[in-house]
Amino acid sequence: MASSAPLEMQGILAAVGETPLVRLHTLSELTGREIYGKAEHLNPAGSVKDRAAKFLVLDAFKRGLLVPGDTIVEGTGGNTGIALAMVASALGLRTLITVPDNVAKEKRDMMERYGAEILVVPQVPFSNPEHFYHAAKRERDRMNADADKAMSTLPQGSPRPPRAYFPDQFENLANREAHRATTGPEIWRQTSGKVNAFVCASGTGGTISGVSSYLKEQDSRVRIVLADCHGSGLASFVQTGELVSDGLKTVTEGIGSMRLTANFKSAAIDECVRVSDAEAVAMGYFLLQFEGIFIGPSASLNAAAAVKVARTLPAGSTIVTIMCDSGERYTSKTFNKGFLQEQQLQPAFDANGRLPRNL
Ligand code: PMP
Repeated sequence: MASSAPLEMQGILAAVGETPLVRLHTLSELTGREIYGKAEHLNPAGSVKDRAAKFLVLDAFKRGLLVPGDTIVEGTGGNTGIALAMVASALGLRTLITVPDNVAKEKRDMMERYGAEILVVPQVPFSNPEHFYHAAKRERDRMNADADKAMSTLPQGSPRPPRAYFPDQFENLANREAHRATTGPEIWRQTSGKVNAFVCASGTGGTISGVSSYLKEQDSRVRIVLADCHGSGLASFVQTGELVSDGLKTVTEGIGSMRLTANFKSAAIDECVRVSDAEAVAMGYFLLQFEGIFIGPSASLNAAAAVKVARTLPAGSTIVTIMCDSGERYTSKTFNKGFLQEQQLQPAFDANGRLPRNL
């Protein structure tokens, strides 16, 4: 039955956001600082990208660019595809997602369960036309050319045939706005305004950009720290103005980049910390065993970065980070023994069994 509630409050979309802010007890006690993780894996489609997907789609609806029956076409490393497929299914839209072939199978399966069509493309650098971003744009153009052709045969005044819409999570600032309007205010409220640092990795840059913008507006002294992974040039860009990568590959899906997106460029970043895959993976197993928290590798990398930042702040400081998605999305990858062996990433704890080694 059609609802008279505004779109954002209809059905499952009302359940996006307002996630718990969880105190990471062992990390807090070990560092003498208060470390909190925003439990974004508890969103309805299981990741921080639910917020962006909801805002990107509602923004297009409100601007008349998208109507029921249309297809959302997006290129994504996974979580955005799942989130868009969830939002689309709730609003009577279709989804076509272009996905690089290295993405965890669990994510592809989830998109398909929500009804998305998937186009798997090779994992190649952005400059290659086969990259998922360009592939999505091509699919959008192809579908809209078909729609234009169909339109030309219809009598005047007929409703337009279904079209394709490319939300463009990387360049579209509705992504940033999702976090400026929701994640940032929630963190401020949940810490009673006592947050000293926000630590977060960047994929599209939507989260770090939106949250940093809101928190800096409340208190310009809040330190915004970019957590960066192997293979990414973002930390070097913040430090030197040049995108230089360490040339390594990372297992932390969804983060790191060798290009500057509109969302990333509008982030207010004070400093960076680098986290290795070994540190991130060890933190994932550590949180699972000592905190009962099962999160994915980018979230674990964020937690490891939060510990590094905590050590540079006065005792009693409050540090907030993002738990982007659940470990269940990586049971064939970082939470699979065979995969870890292949990657030579055995999680190692200190002799006292507490912090991941070297952290
Ligand atoms: N972690 C994971 C697992 C992701 O899928 C993403 C989105 N690419 C991020 C972190 C980064 O979020 P953002 O795009 O807002 O920078």
